[in-house]
Order: sequence, then structure tokens, then C-alpha cells
Amino acid sequence: MSLQSWKCLTCNNDFKVGDWLCSDKQSNHIVERKEYLVADAPSDPGHPAKGGMDSKRDGRTRICNIPPDKTVIVNGETQRVPGGFVEFVRGRFATSDPEIQYYLEKTRSNVFCSEAQWEQAWLSQGQQLELERGKLDAMRQRLENERNELLSQVKQQKVEKVAATR
Ligand SMILES: [Zn+2]
Repeated sequence: MSLQSWKCLTCNNDFKVGDWLCSDKQSNHIVERKEYLVADAPSDPGHPAKGGMDSKRDGRTRICNIPPDKTVIVNGETQRVPGGFVEFVRGRFATSDPEIQYYLEKTRSNVFCSEAQWEQAWLSQGQQLELERGKLDAMRQRLENERNELLSQVKQQKVEKVAATR
């Protein structure tokens, strides 16, 4: 893990674990934004609508100690800097801060889930059906486009044949 390194999008420098500060020595380096998903939706949906199909699922999960407490030396004196926390809203959290990415992945990589798992956990049945319908519509549109393309190719070939026999 300690060999991991990144390239900062702000100052263009390569840096390693622990060297989080950017060239201004105040804010952290910036890396590509990453999104983390967790499937910890409350099992009680909270506000079930009529029929229960479109119950709204809402929830916030706070993960503490990201980044963890650290000790720094200022003017020869040891100072303790308290750690931070991140908050997942409806099971999603995104950041471009490499320090937070590093500690999240180091300590919580076992709780992250795929987009499909997230959908299953967080979307109501109605929303999942709607999403499915959207995917089907897109697929149907794609098939139709392909068919039209084939038809026009066939037409084109016929025209060329007729032209060749004249
Ligand atoms: Zn930087």
C-alpha cells in the first residue's frame, strides 16, 4: 500500500501516501473524483406511499475517522489534529481528495458495492421498474436504428444492381 502514488491535477506533482498537501501547503492535492457506493439502505423505507411501490428511501451514513487523527509537529511541539468524517447520502459519496480516498479504500473497501447492488438497495420497486423500462426503451431504439440501417443498405444494393443491369 505504501507504494501507492498519485498525480495531482492542480500542481501536476506526483505524491505518495502522507504527502497530501498541495503546493499552497494548506489544501490537499486534487485527484480524479471517485464515487463510492454502499448498499446500507434502511430496511424500513420510512415514508411508504400508497401500495408501498414507491416508498422513499432516504438515509445518511457518517463514517468517522476519515482521515484519522494525526500528530503534527508545529514549532517543535507535538499537536494532535483530530480526524474528519465523510457522509454518505443515500448510499453515495464522491470526493477528489486523495487522502479521503486513500483512507476510505484502506478501511472500508469491503463495504462498497456495485451500481446494480446500490439500485437494489436504494430504489423503490417503482423506481427500479422505471429504470428497467428506460433500459428496454433504449434497447428497442437501438434495434430499430440497426434495422433501419440494414434496410437502407439493402435498398442501396438493389439500386446498384438495377443500375448495373442497365
Ligand atoms: Zn497538488
